[in-house]
Amino acid sequence: MTQQTQGTPSATWRAKNQPDPHGDRYNCERAALCMGSLTDDQLANAVFMCDHRTSLESIAYLTAAKDRIRWLSRKLEEVGAAPQSSICCWTYDSDSFSWDTGCGEKWTLMDGGPKENGMHFCHACGGKLEEESNG
Ligand SMILES: [Zn+2]
Repeated sequence: MTQQTQGTPSATWRAKNQPDPHGDRYNCERAALCMGSLTDDQLANAVFMCDHRTSLESIAYLTAAKDRIRWLSRKLEEVGAAPQSSICCWTYDSDSFSWDTGCGEKWTLMDGGPKENGMHFCHACGGKLEEESNG
């Protein structure tokens, strides 16, 4: 089973290499956010349990949840979670006895292919490594 390269990006602006529309608003500690004293789980539970039809706290919880999701999304990017969701397909080049990576690099292995050498991720881009058999 292979991972899909297509999927929902964490942010459209990021996928299009555009600047963050919120500037550095979310470049802060979690505690500095609205309701920052709540853990992620506590905030999620508070939003879920709130009766949004009648509670005066509804808008405060929804705003805090919006801010928390945006903040978590940026933190997730910071720790480099995104590259692991992409795939880098390596193809063997029998003319040069080396491997062409899907991200445009070339690697020569002393013996065997990437799988036989226990390689699971591309050294260049960090994507999940897959071998393409070309015959
Ligand atoms: Zn790669």
